[in-house]
Amino acid sequence: MTMNGLLHDPDFFSRHNRTQHPENANRLSLLGDLAFGEPVEHRPATDEELLAVHTTGHLHTVASSCRNGGGFLDPDTYCCPESETVARAASGGLVDLCFGVLAGTFANGLALIRPPGHHATCDQAMGFCLYNHIAVAAAALKTRGVSRVCIVDFDVHHGNGTQDIFYEDDSVLYMSSHQYPHYPGTGSVAEIGRGKGAGFTLNHHLEAGSGDDELLTGYRDHLLPRLVDFEPGFILVSAGFDGHADDPLAGLNTTTAGYRKLVDLLIQKAGRLCEGKIVFVLEGGYYPRALADCLGETMRSLKDGSSE
Ligand SMILES: [Zn+2]
Repeated sequence: MTMNGLLHDPDFFSRHNRTQHPENANRLSLLGDLAFGEPVEHRPATDEELLAVHTTGHLHTVASSCRNGGGFLDPDTYCCPESETVARAASGGLVDLCFGVLAGTFANGLALIRPPGHHATCDQAMGFCLYNHIAVAAAALKTRGVSRVCIVDFDVHHGNGTQDIFYEDDSVLYMSSHQYPHYPGTGSVAEIGRGKGAGFTLNHHLEAGSGDDELLTGYRDHLLPRLVDFEPGFILVSAGFDGHADDPLAGLNTTTAGYRKLVDLLIQKAGRLCEGKIVFVLEGGYYPRALADCLGETMRSLKDGSSE
């Protein structure tokens, strides 16, 4: 049986930390010892890998801010002296995890990386995000001959950065479910892509207060049929669990069981469409107990998915 791949190094990723900020190292403190997966080493993403989705100016901004002792890159987004090293290693490790799944070394994968990435645009850090790891991974997969990558983003916030980066690209289908209206303000259903990318961005709104039924119905009726039509060669998931009822940063009422059902659905689709090639990438999730429970369910689902 092929193993699951796991990118997880709490001591290392904790070097990017700021207490009194919701995106802190304590988020993953309740995970405990993980009996899951074969470890994947993080390694620095190369400039070439980062520049496939970011500008040179953005790399310089992040690096120089860290060299100068850190601070805030926007009102929400901090960096500390080691943040560039940590974020770069998160992207590089994720690329290797994805290549491992592509090669069949791993059945599927989970990346427990920080800081998150989906709000980072080509030239701006924002929303706690410095580099857009999932976008870096999608671009890297394309260099290995994957002609169609689908990014499914179920974080409660719209992944404006990822959408932006692939907005005119028909080789990456970006689909997002998110609370709307809410931070960062983008992600209306009218945003569908541009040029040859028209039709390759798909946004689904969830009203404040909505729960599992609205979330799962949105996927079954609206998002997943498009995913099937697209026939992806690889599925990447921006897995944010900040829509959980206990999470302090948003207003959805998704339960741990609801997230498990959604994760199951995505893994089933990957099994049917692309030989199970799916990698879940941690984005948000700011209540440690709920995050640990949801990630535990995700690991169980990935294990079940790889033994089918
Ligand atoms: Zn979020």
